[in-house]
Amino acid sequence: MSHWQQNTRNTLKGADKCNAFFYSEQFTEQNFPIKIPLEFANLIDKRNPNDPLLKQVLPQIKIEQQGFSVEPLEDEKNSPVAGLIHKYPNRVLLIASRVCAIHCQYCFRQNFNYSEHDAISNWQAIEDYIRTHPQINEVILSGGDPLSLSDEKLQVLISNIERIPHIKNLRFHTRSAVVTPSRITVELVKMLDKTRLSVVLVTHVNHANELSNKFAKAIQQLTRVTLLNQSVLLKDVNDSVSVLSTLSSDLFALGILPYYLHLLDKVSGAEHFLVDDATATKLHRELGKKLSGYLVPRLVRDENLAAKTWL
Ligand code: SF4
Repeated sequence: MSHWQQNTRNTLKGADKCNAFFYSEQFTEQNFPIKIPLEFANLIDKRNPNDPLLKQVLPQIKIEQQGFSVEPLEDEKNSPVAGLIHKYPNRVLLIASRVCAIHCQYCFRQNFNYSEHDAISNWQAIEDYIRTHPQINEVILSGGDPLSLSDEKLQVLISNIERIPHIKNLRFHTRSAVVTPSRITVELVKMLDKTRLSVVLVTHVNHANELSNKFAKAIQQLTRVTLLNQSVLLKDVNDSVSVLSTLSSDLFALGILPYYLHLLDKVSGAEHFLVDDATATKLHRELGKKLSGYLVPRLVRDENLAAKTWL
């Protein structure tokens, strides 16, 4: 078992363990089970009940609010083949794994029907679909988290994708990279170095406090990969110009360009994270005044049937 797999066993699960670890009584079991890797938990200030990293993993009692639902994006409506989501003409998204290193309490896929959508076991049907759609030139690996797959399984998946001639780009969307930097193994780096595909890795970082030295060291090994970041705009986590501008500057110092700032997908249980549209637009405008243009992420919202909406 590799180092990162051992590390994923060092994970806090359940309210009792978390309360003991953080000397707290804040954790209660709600809809989405608690899961916090120690590499992330150790970045949280135990003396601060409002720590912005803590807020992301702390379940809250649901507040009934209009517009929130169990499956806000209705991904299955855009899934012509199990395990594959096709919303945009040139690219498809694969549900590469149902597992995540961390459970983010704002996650829009927390109720997703993963058992019906496993891209690995349904690969042949997925390949047939992609081969009959030559306009597709990019495959996006998502989940769950694609980096929760072992290096061996990832290699098989990448080799399968490489065999389809019209696929040029391979994109990873991953939160594992930042919450468990030990996942960036030498084997993974070699795998991404040698593929014929152009690789883009989109890290999911919401606050500069997540950018540990371990992460900085790990990510700098990915010299042949285009590094981008997406964040979710979360109330009491990163809804200020100073927090967002520090995040952009610190990401850039690591060679990562801020790409998207997502408005919250309205999933039940995440109501307390909502930043309303007017506040978000104002924040974004202020950010644009403070930062160079290339450091300002695009403010976007995912729509359930159409594409992203630019705000
Ligand atoms: S890592 Fe991504 S998919 Fe997994 S719980 Fe967090 S937001 Fe959801």
